[in-house]
Amino acid sequence: MTGSTERRSEPILAVEELEVGFSVGDRTIRAVNGVSFSIAPSEALAIVGESGSGKSTTGLAVMGLIQRTKQVHISGQVRLKSKTGRVCDVLELPARALRQVRGNDIAMIFQEPMSSLNPVYSIGSQIAEAVALHRRMSRADSLARALELLEQLSVPNPDKCLVSYPHQLSGGMRQRVMIAMALSCEPRLLIADEPTTALDVTVQAQIIELLKQVQAQTGMAIIFITHNLGIVSEIAHRTLVMYAGEVVESVSAAELFERPGMPYTAALLQSLPRIAADRAPATKLAAIPGSVPSAGALPTGCRFHPRCAHFLAKTCDAARPMLEACAPGHWVRCHRWRDIGDFAA
Ligand code: ADP
Ligand code: MG
Repeated sequence: MTGSTERRSEPILAVEELEVGFSVGDRTIRAVNGVSFSIAPSEALAIVGESGSGKSTTGLAVMGLIQRTKQVHISGQVRLKSKTGRVCDVLELPARALRQVRGNDIAMIFQEPMSSLNPVYSIGSQIAEAVALHRRMSRADSLARALELLEQLSVPNPDKCLVSYPHQLSGGMRQRVMIAMALSCEPRLLIADEPTTALDVTVQAQIIELLKQVQAQTGMAIIFITHNLGIVSEIAHRTLVMYAGEVVESVSAAELFERPGMPYTAALLQSLPRIAADRAPATKLAAIPGSVPSAGALPTGCRFHPRCAHFLAKTCDAARPMLEACAPGHWVRCHRWRDIGDFAA
C-alpha cells in the first residue's frame, strides 16, 4: 500500500524538545515544554487537549510565527524538509527565508476565518494575491488558479464567490476560502488549528472530506489541532495528547479509542463531545474535575496529578514522569501506566 509506505518514509517535519515561554511581569508562562514529534508525507497527526494546553502555541512555533523577543523564549528544533529537499530549522531562519517556507512548504488555517480575511477586498483578489505571492504568475493566471481552487473545494457558483466580499459568505464558505488560500501554493504540510470548531456538523464533515481528498491527491501532511474526538477518528492516523504544555500520550488513532494509556486521555474521551459526522453530540458529558493548571504555576511531578483519579502520593507528585513506550507505537507520560487500565499486568 502506498499510503503506509509513505507514512513510514522520512519525516517532512521533526520537532525536537520544543520549548516556548512567555515572560509576563516577573513570571514565566511555560506554554510548551519539551514537545517532540515528527510527521511524514501523507500522514495526518491530531493534537488534542483541553484549552490552554499549548496546542496553538506549538502550531504557531512550527509555522515560524512566534518570534524571539525579550519576553518570548523559544528553544529546541523544528526541522523541516523543504520542497527543494533541503532541511532547515524553522526556528533559526531569517525572516525572508521564513516567508518562503510559509506558503511554499507549510500553510496554516485558523479557527476564525473572518479574522484572517480582509473585509475590503473581494475573495478573488485575496486568493489571487496569495497565489501570486508564491508563484510568479500574471494577475489573470492567478485569478484562474483561484477559480480552480474554489471548484476543487466544491464551492457552489465559484465565479460568483470570486467577486464576493467576506461578509457576503457563510461561515462554511469563508472557511473554504481560507483553505483555498492555504492550499494555493500546494504546501507539503498543512497545520489546521480548530478550523471547523465554529461550523455546523455537516459543514465540518465536508471540510474534513475535502482535506482528506487533497491529502490523497498530493501527499500533503496534516497537523490537525482539535477538541473534537469525532474528527480525530475521521482524519488522524496518529494522535498527540497535550496537557499543560507537555505531550502526555502519543498513540495511533485506533489505539486511542481502544486503550488510552494516560488517565487524562481516558478522562478526555469521556468528557469531550464525540461528534461524528453522522451522529448527534452526546447529551451528557462527564467533566474532568478541576482545570488545566496555569502555565505560570505548574504542579510538581505529573502535571495532571491534582485531577487524577489514580493519584498516588509520593509517586505522582514527586518526579516528572518520562514519556515511556507502553506498547509498540504507543507512548505515555504516567508513573502508573503499568498498574491501571488496559496495561495492568
Ligand atoms: P491551546 O491552543 O491548547 O488552547 P495555547 O497554546 O493557546 O493553548 O496556550 C497555552 C498557554 O500559553 C496558555 O496558558 C496561554 O494563556 C499561554 N499563552 C499563549 N500565548 C501567549 C502569549 N502571547 N503571552 C502569554 N501567554 C500566552
Ligand atoms: Mg488553541
